[in-house]
Amino acid sequence: MSKAIQAIRGMNDCLPGETNKWQMVEEVLRRVAGNYGYAEIRMPIVESTALFKRSIGEVTDIVEKEMYTFDDRNGDSLTLRPEGTASCVRAGNQNGLLYNQEQRLWYMGPMFRHERPQKGRYRQFHQFGIESFGFASADMDAEIIMLSARLWKELGISEFVTLELNSLGSNEDRANYRDALVAFLTEHQEALDEDSKRRMGSNPLRVLDSKNKDVQAVLVNAPKLSDFLSEESKEHFASLCKQLDAVGIKYELNERLVRGLDYYNRTVFEWVTDSLGAQGTVCAGGRYDGLVEQLGGKATPGVGFALGIERLVLMLTELEKLNNIRATADAYVVMVGETAEITGVQLAETLRDDVPGVRIQTHCGGGKFNKQMKRADKSGATVAIILGDSEVEQQAATIKYLREKREQQTVPFTDLAPLLEDLTKG
Ligand code: ATP
Ligand code: MG
Repeated sequence: MSKAIQAIRGMNDCLPGETNKWQMVEEVLRRVAGNYGYAEIRMPIVESTALFKRSIGEVTDIVEKEMYTFDDRNGDSLTLRPEGTASCVRAGNQNGLLYNQEQRLWYMGPMFRHERPQKGRYRQFHQFGIESFGFASADMDAEIIMLSARLWKELGISEFVTLELNSLGSNEDRANYRDALVAFLTEHQEALDEDSKRRMGSNPLRVLDSKNKDVQAVLVNAPKLSDFLSEESKEHFASLCKQLDAVGIKYELNERLVRGLDYYNRTVFEWVTDSLGAQGTVCAGGRYDGLVEQLGGKATPGVGFALGIERLVLMLTELEKLNNIRATADAYVVMVGETAEITGVQLAETLRDDVPGVRIQTHCGGGKFNKQMKRADKSGATVAIILGDSEVEQQAATIKYLREKREQQTVPFTDLAPLLEDLTKG
């Protein structure tokens, strides 16, 4: 036997039994995006490498060490998208969706990052993302946070997530702060680790979210970004907080929250949970008013977030919120005898015509009644529709309830449609 080929490390199959959970979650994501009037956009999975370098930033974890980059057969450098915002802005610019317009968009799909695979962290993972363009005021920051909060509500996990909020100010505010921070870090250089020393020169704000305990201890006395915010930035942030208060969304201010991507300004936020261990961020986003211009478009404000679907499904599974997922089939047709086999298939086709959305599996491969009943049970179906010679003769099927103690019934073929209609509703 030849050696079986394995999937790439960190890139997982999603098997039946998992896919039904995903579909349920995806359905909620789509529905809630629709509740706020958002339209779906689909972008390619591969883009020019330059797109991500220019938007995410050269000195970020993603661009420095996580991208899947390769030369295609023409020698062009391509990258499997590590996130969706850059692609979405590229698509918006290229198709004239952004300038002088308002757009409320969502997307969903696979992203790729070469990280160390572990629980909640994979090399191919999936994100659901929201991006709004053309809105500069904080009501839009509030809207997308409300939308995310509604996702948790619909999924029944509001009490397990916390919103962390910060403002990075304008580019100018950040530049002023950067100078002050670099001066402080230079003074305390000997206490910094190698990573932080390197970042101090290239992207000093990133030192703030260092996970190193010693570095964190030094940072306790570092200058605070909030002291460097302009009046305008402060007002924008205060306005956001006020709107969140008005709709009862609780948040914690976290001055250290800077996010790993360069393009953010003003609002940044994360939804975190402690039900996932180390990989506690389920959803993250913020405002990126400079990005559209940076990618060659006309200046257009933008704000958005992305949530990790694997982490969300993990969390829902651990909190036992996905226990009531429907099985693949509502009904399983058991057919014993040659005539019954033909009648059963015809009947199933008629029922599929008459009951939209019904899920019927017909037994394939013949065999004895008991064997067929075992298959019916394994299918997860709610009922077995049983046909033998006498049923065909009477034009009535025997209905056996597979998931509850209930007497079996004889139901005329013509009454099967309403019975299945009730099942699909339940
Ligand atoms: P982290 O700090 O966990 O590395 P990040 O800041 O790199 O996250 P973002 O780029 O903001 O994450 O992506 C948004 C969301 O996508 C994250 O909050 C997380 O839920 C999910 N995510 C990011 N990277 C991965 C990954 N490698 N595997 C699974 N989910 C991921
Ligand atoms: Mg990361």
